[in-house]
Amino acid sequence: MFVMFRNRGSCDCGTLGAAAISLLVVLLGLDLASSASLTTQGMKAATPANSTVEAHYKSNLELEVALKNFTRRCRHISRLYTIGNSTLGVPLWALEISDKPGVSEPEPAFKYVGNMHGDEPLGRELVLLLSDWLCDNYKKDPMATLIVDKLHLHLLPTMNPDGFAAQKPGPTRNNAHDVDLNRDFPDQFFPQNNNEEKRQAETRSVMNWIRSSRFTASASFHEGALVANYPYDGTPDISTKYAPSPDDSTFKYLAGVYAGNHPLMLKSKEFTGGITNGAHWYPLYGGMQDWNYLHGNCMELTLEMNENKWPPPDQVPRIWGEHRKSMLELAAATVKSGVHGRVMSSIQGEPLAATIVVSGISHSMNASAEFGDYHRLLAPGQVYTVSNCS
Ligand SMILES: [Zn+2]
Repeated sequence: MFVMFRNRGSCDCGTLGAAAISLLVVLLGLDLASSASLTTQGMKAATPANSTVEAHYKSNLELEVALKNFTRRCRHISRLYTIGNSTLGVPLWALEISDKPGVSEPEPAFKYVGNMHGDEPLGRELVLLLSDWLCDNYKKDPMATLIVDKLHLHLLPTMNPDGFAAQKPGPTRNNAHDVDLNRDFPDQFFPQNNNEEKRQAETRSVMNWIRSSRFTASASFHEGALVANYPYDGTPDISTKYAPSPDDSTFKYLAGVYAGNHPLMLKSKEFTGGITNGAHWYPLYGGMQDWNYLHGNCMELTLEMNENKWPPPDQVPRIWGEHRKSMLELAAATVKSGVHGRVMSSIQGEPLAATIVVSGISHSMNASAEFGDYHRLLAPGQVYTVSNCS
């Protein structure tokens, strides 16, 4: 749903004064089954008879070559850039896929982050397969076209190339300083490590990336289970219990989009519906997903992609086949769900970086200063009052 606000004044966002503009928004329920738009034609195109996947996980150098080859082959919809370097100086490559890569537009942005833990390699390969599928099916399949045309997709194949490439005893969970990057972000309950200069190079790079990119939503890939995990990850008293964020219903919806489109995750015997609140499973502190939400206004999930942390590489095509629809639908949910629009001054017509407030949700988000665009994800099937303050 697209909603344009034209503002004539400012207001106190805490009290929603008279100058605020409010709209009652009814989001229609989306049927997961009917929202699937992978056509039979598209499915065939995803697995051409002559496609091959090398039966090994690409080294960091091979990954860099593959990314550069992709941007040569699909330069019309892609851009390769780095968000920084790892502790040992390996570039942290990111791939942007869009019909206007590198160009600011009033569109949502979505990111997938792979290989945060060095001994969980699937994400490295899956984001390459995703980018190939999007390029091969752009302007042929409606889902590929929607993602390329309507959002900016950013793919970070590896956040921890040093852990992946560790020689003795082999790939490790932690980075080259033996730090778990998913415990290295500032934490809302335990701010003991909030000195940003002491944070790991990989963490600092991702934090700066999130601050500068205005991501609407994202997910990071992990292995060791099969479940879509959503915030919060921690509780103030370190107990294991459900810790809802203000956007709990929307997070559950997004996790359900992922799990509901995966043939096995949805049928999980351990996790109802294939989803879990992070702290209800096990609490952790310094995690990336809570920081994304609290400080980046980015609604991030942590996706456990496979029970086996290091599946034999010849299983990657099968695992990709199981996750493809989920990966596409989650990215597309940033366009298909919620309230989107722009806030403009009714006097001079310039964009306003207004605060978008949803009644009953104590977490506001901002429109961009450049375009005044906002992308407020909300679970369908409910009635919302949406306001803005500038
Ligand atoms: Zn992990």
